[in-house]
Amino acid sequence: MKIDGGCHCGNITFVAEADPGQVTICHCTDCQILTGSAFRVVVRAPRDKFELRGGKPKIYVKTAESGMKRVQAFCPECGTPIYSTTPTDPQFYGLRVGTIRQRAQLGPKKQQWCRSALDWAQDIHALQKVDKQQ
Ligand SMILES: [Zn+2]
Ligand SMILES: [Zn+2]
Repeated sequence: MKIDGGCHCGNITFVAEADPGQVTICHCTDCQILTGSAFRVVVRAPRDKFELRGGKPKIYVKTAESGMKRVQAFCPECGTPIYSTTPTDPQFYGLRVGTIRQRAQLGPKKQQWCRSALDWAQDIHALQKVDKQQ
């Protein structure tokens, strides 16, 4: 499906074609730290179907425990994470679902790195619900 999105401050915008069947929750500790949250939600877009329309993301290359390097692109103005990919010859971009306008239609289909998943993030159904900030 065609998607579009951008960062919080509007500096970075993009369009892409992504497969709604390929939406994944990642519970790895790198994603927890880099998002500042419990987990990350990612949808893959092929290289030739992802296009930056405005702004130039800042790149941070993280090295995983395995030694594998991964490019993390984010807005230099507001810090919104935009995508990750491989440092050389990227085939896919891992787009951050929260930045995509159609995110309500991009429900995750699987979870990975469950060994570092936070127990309390597994079931939030029972938590008190407030429509806006309390
Ligand atoms: Zn921004
Ligand atoms: Zn991760």
